[in-house]
Amino acid sequence: MLIIKEIRELQQKITDLKSQNKSIGFFPTMGALHEGHLTLAKHAIRENDVSICSIFVNPTQFNQKDDLDKYPRTLEKDAALLEHKGVDILFYPHVDEIYPKNEDNNFEFDFNGLDEVLEGAQRPGHFKGVGQIVSKLLYMVNPDRLYMGQKDFQQFSIINYMIDAMKIPTQLRIVPIVREQSGLAMSSRNARLSQDERNKACVIHKTLLEIKELKDLFSVKELETMAMKKFESFNDFRPEYVTISDGYDLKDIKDLSNHEYAIVSTAVWVGDVRLIDNVIIKVPEDNPLFVKE
Ligand code: AMP
Repeated sequence: MLIIKEIRELQQKITDLKSQNKSIGFFPTMGALHEGHLTLAKHAIRENDVSICSIFVNPTQFNQKDDLDKYPRTLEKDAALLEHKGVDILFYPHVDEIYPKNEDNNFEFDFNGLDEVLEGAQRPGHFKGVGQIVSKLLYMVNPDRLYMGQKDFQQFSIINYMIDAMKIPTQLRIVPIVREQSGLAMSSRNARLSQDERNKACVIHKTLLEIKELKDLFSVKELETMAMKKFESFNDFRPEYVTISDGYDLKDIKDLSNHEYAIVSTAVWVGDVRLIDNVIIKVPEDNPLFVKE
């Protein structure tokens, strides 16, 4: 696997690959890789001639300095995992390479309100940072396909909007959430949970599945309240929200029967670790964004 740290070298490589008509599959990450990331790798390898992973802990998307400082960094292990999986190129830039001190990087996109709800409402500035880094990476890598996880449902919805609005010639491919056996969604942040917290955290997925099962028996409000109460019943849990939203525009839903595509999503603090998860509770007939197994 080729490891590239400089944009100039990356772009030279991309130019070479394009001149050979090689298709490029790209998946951006913040490292501390787990099976979820490696599933993105699997699909990028399967559907393209060349697979590229980036590892960059993007400071502009962290709204709390403490969260940025505590974010796990395990480069050597990550590189070994990617190599073993068969990824071709790892792009691992320094922060000054992406955000040079002498440049004004404070640009932002209008995401048509998609960034104002859910995570956007809880983490001011988060999606502005996501837009900055993903747009820069897309311009640098110019991939045929971009792989992202359903785990960050709002993130991929926003990037889907940006790709459409900016006419970026990249196809977005979404990989369903990869979970531990307990149901806990895999996340780099899970490494910071104690064993006890980890055991309890599987209730997050269980509760979201219950909502899906009970969705025809209770109102949206009742379902959301039940789940919040469930999470609040654990001493060391602090739920921020449980929200049922339209899968297309991410707006709150009052009555599920008026929507063909719906998700329930949540953010819960377990101890001092903030976990997010979601379950699609109503699936549209055809969702071409999602990869097929
Ligand atoms: P991160 O390193 O957390 O920024 O995640 C990088 C990419 O991996 C994003 O597109 C995430 O949605 C995706 N991802 C993270 N965790 C999972 C998971 N458990 N299952 C599927 N995709 C995931």
